[in-house]
Amino acid sequence: MDKIKKILIGTNNTGKYREISDLLPKKMQKYSPKNFKILSPAESGKSFKENSILKASYFSKKTNLVCLSDDSGLEIDLLKGKPGIYSSRWSGPKNDFNLAIEKIFKKMNQVKKNWENSSSARFVCCLTLFWPNGKNYSTMGIVEGKISNAKKGKNGFGYDPIFIPDGYEKTFGEMDSKLKMSIDHRFKAFSQLKDFFY
Ligand code: IMP
Repeated sequence: MDKIKKILIGTNNTGKYREISDLLPKKMQKYSPKNFKILSPAESGKSFKENSILKASYFSKKTNLVCLSDDSGLEIDLLKGKPGIYSSRWSGPKNDFNLAIEKIFKKMNQVKKNWENSSSARFVCCLTLFWPNGKNYSTMGIVEGKISNAKKGKNGFGYDPIFIPDGYEKTFGEMDSKLKMSIDHRFKAFSQLKDFFY
């Protein structure tokens, strides 16, 4: 198999861009949609996989480059899997995750008063590689955990300050970013794509 030497990382989310870029080989030539001034397409799919393919296909066709895109989100059992594919949209037009986290706490409190011991949740990630000729390949990664009853830590992005992965006491926001990136949903999805790069 021919290894991919240059790639468009199909996201305008800086947190995701940094993480995906760090997972890829250092010497690879990496591009962002920002380099081409391309905005992200509307995410009209009904699953992480549909949205991931939609983004990868869109960016690859616009640039004629192989694209690696990510669709990911947080599923909370008490909220029947929400925010799920709407994880980004819960942060509003200004991408304010304080707002999204407040919304989560509010909704969880409405469903159950003391939810500390029933806050199971997971981060899900679908990565898609899309070639300009239409060939594509998707993988899924999941990290199980629970929701913290308070925001903790300043590392990472998005919902990191309220997610405690199973087997740890700290939120992703409190963890060293290298540790987070060696156990998270994105890493697990990426592990299944490694042969295309190394
Ligand atoms: P989308 O894939 O562009 O729809 O956005 C997914 C959203 O899920 C992001 O904006 C983040 O808020 C959230 N998310 C996905 N992965 C992570 C993560 O590793 N840490 C924190 N939040 C995440």
